[in-house]
Amino acid sequence: MIDRRLFLLSTAGLVGAPDAWLAGSGSPPPAEPVPAAGPPPPPLDLTASFDAWRVGFIDRAVAKGLPREEVTLAVAGLTLDPRVTNADGKQPELSRSMGDYLAGTVSAARISQGQAQLAQGASWMQPIAEKTGVPAEILVSVWGMESNFGKIQGDYDVIRSLATLAAEGRRRDFAEAQLMAALKIVFSGEARRDQLKGSWAGAMGQTQFTPEDYLAWAVDADGDGKRDIWGSSQDAIGSAGQFLARKAAWRRGEGWAREVVLPAQGFDYGLAEGERHPYAWWTDQGVQPADDQTWSASDAAEAAGLILPAGWSGPAFLILPNHMAIRAYNNATTYALAVGLLADRIAGRAPLVRAWPAETPIGRDDRIAAQAALVRLGFDPGTPDGVMGLRTRAAAREWQRSRGLPADGYLTYGLIQALKLQAGLSPAPTL
Ligand code: CA
Repeated sequence: MIDRRLFLLSTAGLVGAPDAWLAGSGSPPPAEPVPAAGPPPPPLDLTASFDAWRVGFIDRAVAKGLPREEVTLAVAGLTLDPRVTNADGKQPELSRSMGDYLAGTVSAARISQGQAQLAQGASWMQPIAEKTGVPAEILVSVWGMESNFGKIQGDYDVIRSLATLAAEGRRRDFAEAQLMAALKIVFSGEARRDQLKGSWAGAMGQTQFTPEDYLAWAVDADGDGKRDIWGSSQDAIGSAGQFLARKAAWRRGEGWAREVVLPAQGFDYGLAEGERHPYAWWTDQGVQPADDQTWSASDAAEAAGLILPAGWSGPAFLILPNHMAIRAYNNATTYALAVGLLADRIAGRAPLVRAWPAETPIGRDDRIAAQAALVRLGFDPGTPDGVMGLRTRAAAREWQRSRGLPADGYLTYGLIQALKLQAGLSPAPTL
């Protein structure tokens, strides 16, 4: 009994009363960073490897201070979830254009739902926004993006999903740490085992927290004594605010990005994804705000970076540090843009001045061929893997410069065909 109580104290000590939380007491420990996925392991007999993993996991969990009997019981009936291994191995075949992605995520329906949620929840959202410094429209936007305002939280058994990912081995350390955190949540009594539903990757509740982020950052905002990110929208939003303010270092009173217009002639597109500078430096380069709103002094003092998410012909943005704060949630420019743009619209700000260009979707074969072509032409896009990352975009910029093209590093379908032709790679149809 005493052991059990000590264990509960060690895991449940982070629960705070809502008043205490709103008053600013309590200081959750920092969470571990999420490691990148490694290369896939060789194929194995999955059931046998799952059983072998289970034996080793129990010892590793006990070594981390979890109670052997309860861990053994919790993983005893688990089996590998093939839906999780399928989802984990999936590579996107066709790249989706930014315009298509944002049409789906920042839809008129979602904007109006977000506005309704913001109006209905104002009495409890505003105190959270004031305490954390994260604007209510950002919190509502994250909520909309993560679970469609609490409606779609995922139906995967989080403990089984994480056990599957751990047994599979590609992200064992990450998955095991999350699994141990999930078990702590259950053992502490903060949530029932059957409440731990979420995505295939183990993200839980209305704001899709990992179990470790739950332990470190979830708060009891509605004051019922539990941090219920599944059933309580207040707890979920409060937790998202705490996460963004504390883990992601959201800067109070500052924006996340602003659309800008670039000079029509002679602009060096190579400045995109390059060094960050204060707003005045950008205006010296001829960059202008896309709307007639002036920049606040605090935004103008920050180092802002230029991004061209759909190349030189699409909308351009100067991103502020809070763009990176959003990416602590999901480390993708596309995601941060969707959250920020949805928040702007929920708050009643104007839509973008420049439209997203219509684009031909690019197949994985073509993405790999583009990288192979860059290699053959003497540029360095990294190993051809079909992922158009920073290094590939830098190599694309160099190639564009060598051809006298706008050096935005953005390879459209047409540019990929030109690249393949120049490299002597036969242009193969992608569809
Ligand atoms: Ca609560």
